[in-house]
Amino acid sequence: MAIETKVAARKVVAANPATGEVLREFDCADATGVKEAVDRALAAQPAWQEVGVRKRLAVIEKFQQLLNQRKQHVARIITSEAGKPVAEALLTEILVVLDAARFLLQETYGFLREQPLPHGNLATKAKSGRLIREPYGVIGIISPWNYPFSIPATETLAALVTGNSLVLKPSELTPLSALELASLLYEAGLPEAVFQVVIGEGPAGAALIESGIGKLIFTGSVGTGQRIAQAAATRLLPVVLELGGKDPMIVLEDADVDVASSGAVWGAFVNAGQACLSVERCYVQRNIYDAFVVACVEKTKRLRVGNGADPATDVGPLIRERQLRTVEQHVAEARSRGARVMTGGERLTSLGPNFYAPTVLADITHEMLVMREETFGPVLPITTFDSDAEAIRLANDSDYGLAASVWTRDRMRGEKIARQIKAGTVMVNDAVSCFGISEAPHGGVKASGIGRTHGRFGLEEMVWVKYLDSDLLSGTKKPWWYSYGDSSAAIEGFLDFQFARGITSGLRGAIRSLYLLHGRKL
Ligand code: NAD
Repeated sequence: MAIETKVAARKVVAANPATGEVLREFDCADATGVKEAVDRALAAQPAWQEVGVRKRLAVIEKFQQLLNQRKQHVARIITSEAGKPVAEALLTEILVVLDAARFLLQETYGFLREQPLPHGNLATKAKSGRLIREPYGVIGIISPWNYPFSIPATETLAALVTGNSLVLKPSELTPLSALELASLLYEAGLPEAVFQVVIGEGPAGAALIESGIGKLIFTGSVGTGQRIAQAAATRLLPVVLELGGKDPMIVLEDADVDVASSGAVWGAFVNAGQACLSVERCYVQRNIYDAFVVACVEKTKRLRVGNGADPATDVGPLIRERQLRTVEQHVAEARSRGARVMTGGERLTSLGPNFYAPTVLADITHEMLVMREETFGPVLPITTFDSDAEAIRLANDSDYGLAASVWTRDRMRGEKIARQIKAGTVMVNDAVSCFGISEAPHGGVKASGIGRTHGRFGLEEMVWVKYLDSDLLSGTKKPWWYSYGDSSAAIEGFLDFQFARGITSGLRGAIRSLYLLHGRKL
């Protein structure tokens, strides 16, 4: 199914979700504008590849220095359009990108080095095999609003160091962070055609898929991901899909309740719960359930909700009205089925247009909407389990498989459970922070997506692998060439030699095949 690419002349309006203040307006890029950007990127890519790794990394290093110098300024831009506290923008966006640059500066040489591929098959021993990693050309990135800087930036840096050029379509809700990324990269010496930002809504993203990009890295909701996968299939365009999550947190009876409850409150309310890796559902072993809920409620009540620009703020606003409505729907459905609102459960209209109180729900059942569909808001639903097997079953009973966490004083027990959970990442005694580990692959299974970003696996997504095979015996005809009639006995002898269980039959096979091949003419 092709996605509509005709684009109406619409405006993208960047607004502050805490106040509603309009920050800047842009004309939406239309399909022609998107295609022109991709054409420019295509034309610029060979030279960018040609400059070599050293010069590409010099740009990344300069970018890293500039970002570090301007971190407060960039964090404030992120806060102004995404709402999160400045401290959080520094921690979960800028630090993540600075460290991703550190990782790439350390790893890219080794990653792109031609890799010898020794052959185990005796028949092909006289060939030199190597793996060469080639850039796709132009990588398209379509990104969401919740981490408007770190998501596109980590993907962009990985695509750049491997010799790709890029066109980024950021979320229409948060274009300013993407433009800031571009301006830092240009100042660091990146040619402008190598990295371009096109601003627009869904149709601009759809136009990107139908342009000349070689691969698409998409981060966003499952529904959009499905539409993108369908559109990409008609072009056989390779895609990485980083989609939604419903991450479970399992708290075992031996967990430190104080530590685990602090982890749950942060994991559920960081970025006002609008993180793909948020703690979205919490399962607590029955005998510590009451103590755990009490601790979570008490800590949640202490959180300061407000404008992210205020240094005292812990939890900022949601991004927009639509997000609030989803949260309200999930909380109302849970309430109607018997859940108890222990704290929160309401809008905080006195603070501004998009504020919702951090909410803890108890007496939850696994069937409720709030345990099954992505809430993407500041809601922590908590329920019980009795055995490790039940916790694993409940965690895995989900359409999603992005991440999960297990909390226990017994690391071995935690890891044993972690191994049985179907999710791209499982953390023991922490949540969410895996996104900041530059070496760790990020991505999901099931409806949470396809492919990985970050770390070496993320680099692999930016290249295709060429196998280079060079025969060392250029003057020799190969025994597997025609005609079979002459060589079938030799082939049989060779198979006996290589795969025979006994030494005698193996040697007999080797002698037979050498003898027959010796007289070969064709
Ligand atoms: P979204 O799917 O609404 O939009 C994501 C991007 O896709 C935006 O840039 C949007 O303009 C674009 N888009 C919309 N329709 C399109 C179309 N038909 N063709 C091409 N592009 C189109 O998602 P969102 O609301 O911006 O982000 C929230 C979602 O993203 C949540 O579900 C969250 O879990 C997920 N997410 C996942 C990860 C991850 O790494 N797995 C990270 C962050 C967010």
